Amino acid sequence: PRRPGYIGRFAPSPTGPLHAGSLVAALASWLDARAHGGQWLVRIEDVDTPRCVPGADELILRQLARCGLFPDAPPVYQSQRSDHYGAAMARLKALGVVYPCACTRREVEEALVALGVLGGRFEERVYPGTCRGGLHDRPARAMRLLTVCGGIEAVVSWHDRRLGPHRQNVAREVGDFVLHRADGLWAYQLAVVVDDGDQGVTDVVRGEDLADNTARQIHLQRLLALPEPRYLHVPLVMGADGHKLSKQNGAAPLDTRDPLPALRDAARTLGLPLLQPTLVPDWLQAATLAWSQMWL
Ligand code: GLU
Repeated sequence: PRRPGYIGRFAPSPTGPLHAGSLVAALASWLDARAHGGQWLVRIEDVDTPRCVPGADELILRQLARCGLFPDAPPVYQSQRSDHYGAAMARLKALGVVYPCACTRREVEEALVALGVLGGRFEERVYPGTCRGGLHDRPARAMRLLTVCGGIEAVVSWHDRRLGPHRQNVAREVGDFVLHRADGLWAYQLAVVVDDGDQGVTDVVRGEDLADNTARQIHLQRLLALPEPRYLHVPLVMGADGHKLSKQNGAAPLDTRDPLPALRDAARTLGLPLLQPTLVPDWLQAATLAWSQMWL
């Protein structure tokens, strides 16, 4: 079942070594690429430099290699790609769909309280559009994307290969989101869209926790005239606290001295049947076949 031109990717943030949860996304994206006879790329998402841990990129690549997951091209680093993000920002400026924002977190919070929007986590609240009408002599901090244009709200419908149809009113459910942060860094949403576009990614396979970003990313793809990839969001490994397994809730670094148990655990999360082979390359081949039967 070759799909001509299939390009997939695994895009880890180098904030620490791979753990059981991140291996699931790595393995799923690799299997989908192999099952389609396509290419598999690795992109090191080190755009949020303060969160990155020196050496974590090399460690992740070594762990992947131990699991038999070798990228088909040298890894791309987001930290080297600021010019591309800047060029995309210039295009968005020319379209008139971005604007500078002077609000601090506290000011956004206060504006929401004043509007009577209470409850929920701060991150989930919709920016009230304070700076849409100008900065009024306050210094610019961030750049935001307008999600309402000429009175029309950005509404994105998209399909996930596993989770089915989705629809999000980005204007109402997310609001004008940040593309360039107050600390001078490029936001994940912009970087991921520009990179997937430049790398010709046709298929995004990643953890379910990221599904919620997809409408924002598709909206940006449309503005930047980039093709829309297919999406498959895969199940997460849960930590003891019932949340997605992460370093914060005690995910242990993946022990890849003996990679098979780790691969087997990841395959179980992905719903693959138990596979007999005991050598990594043979196991991966069997897993690719099982994946094809499940998803192609
Ligand atoms: N860098 C993101 C993460 O590690 C993944 C981004 C993506 O796959 O779109 O969570």
